[in-house]
This record gives sequence, C-alpha cells and structure tokens, in this order.
Amino acid sequence: MKKNYVTEAINLKNYPLNDNDSIVVMFSKNKGLISAVAKGVKRPKSKLGARIQMFIANKLLLSEGRNLDTIGEAQSLNTFSKIRSNLDKLSYSMYLAECINNFCSNQYNKDENSEEIYDLIYSAYEKMAQANSKEEILLCVLKFQIKLLNFLGWGIDFNTCGHCQKALDENSYFSFSINSFLCSSCYKNETGEAVRIHNKIRLFLNELSICEFFVKTKYDDVVNMLVLEKCFNFMKKYMDNLTHKKTKIFKTLEASVSV
Ligand SMILES: [Zn+2]
Repeated sequence: MKKNYVTEAINLKNYPLNDNDSIVVMFSKNKGLISAVAKGVKRPKSKLGARIQMFIANKLLLSEGRNLDTIGEAQSLNTFSKIRSNLDKLSYSMYLAECINNFCSNQYNKDENSEEIYDLIYSAYEKMAQANSKEEILLCVLKFQIKLLNFLGWGIDFNTCGHCQKALDENSYFSFSINSFLCSSCYKNETGEAVRIHNKIRLFLNELSICEFFVKTKYDDVVNMLVLEKCFNFMKKYMDNLTHKKTKIFKTLEASVSV
C-alpha cells in the first residue's frame, strides 16, 4: 500500500522526466536529500509548476513509490524571491545547492541531522535574499560552508595541528593531503600540497565556525572582499577535494559570459 507523508523541503534542482512531468531534487527536513516526481508541471495551468522552481521552500504531501516518491500537494513557505533579482545571489545560491547535492548523498550523510541541515539551508537562503552587498553574500556562503561541514563531521579544526596536535600559532599551514592544519615544524616534513594560511584568516574562519549562523561576529563589518574571496576559494578547494568533485557552477557561469 502507498504511504503518504508530509515534510518541508527546499528545491535544489529540477529536470524533465517526460513531456508533462519533472523530477525535483530537494533537501527535506525529515529525510534529507530526496528526489520526487512532480506530475503535470509542464502544462500551462499547473499550480505545481511554480512551486518546483529552484530555492523555493515548500510544505509537501508526498506519496511513496517503488523507486521515486510523487508530490501530491505543495504549499510554498518561502520563495526567497530576492535571490532571483541579482546575479551574484543567484550564482552563489546555485553553488550552495551544488554543495548539498555533493555532500548529502548517502556517502557523506546518514540523515541523522537532516533537520539541522534543512535549517541551515533555509537560513542561508534567507540571509542571501536579504544581503545588501557582495561582502554580505560571501559571508553568508562562508558560514554555510563551515557549518555544513561541521554538521557532517568534516569540520576543520582551526586551532590544532592535525599531525602533532599542538596548538597552532602565527605560523600555520593547511595541508590538502591530510585535510588539516599543520604547525610550522610538521609543515617542514609535509610532502603533499600545503599552503600558508595567514593567522588573521585562521582566526576569522574559527570565529565563523563557532558563532551561530545569524549572530554577527566582530569581523562582519570590517572584513574586505579580498579576504572574503580568499577564504571562499580556500573553503571551496577543501570541499571539492573532499568529494573529489569540482563544483561546476562558477565554471558554467564564466563560460556563458565569455560565449
Ligand atoms: Zn604539528
């Protein structure tokens, strides 16, 4: 017998299944990452069509299927409409969706904390929609990256050398072969790829890691674009390295601009 269930979910991706129906990939509060069929959404009068667009949060009634669940009803909770009015907001929101897709498959997440992750995605899109500058957008993305990894058990320890466990000082490095920080003496023996991380950057990222998502840190108003972009690229590289997948969104955008 088919079972129905209700959950809240945020749309991360959708693609056509056939002439009438689409498949929506969503992150749900109860079951983590799920895919479901949205029937009849290609028809002009479909109400469901508008609700399966990217980044929309819906309350859904789903019925379980053998392979895929089907969306019965959808009631939108938040459309985060301001994300769509700005290209930076749109591209970074797509990047967040890609991170969730890459990290929240069974391999990395056992759905133990899907509610926490759902709240994080919701908060990040809320913050993204409200952002008034590129600095605010990047701060939001950085907090998201760091907190997502913390929830999934891949968080970075910004205080301790991953090799000898000593407290880090002004001279610290990050090793992409062991995916952790190194003190200067352990760095000397490191043969894989490692980069020097400025002490101020390490302390800034640590502050983002320990503060609540919506809490303003002492850095929020003073940090500049150069530092934010460096931090974003560092976190992106670390995350791409973990999943062995290069997030594609910024490449796709660069390509579409240059064509
Ligand atoms: Zn060490």
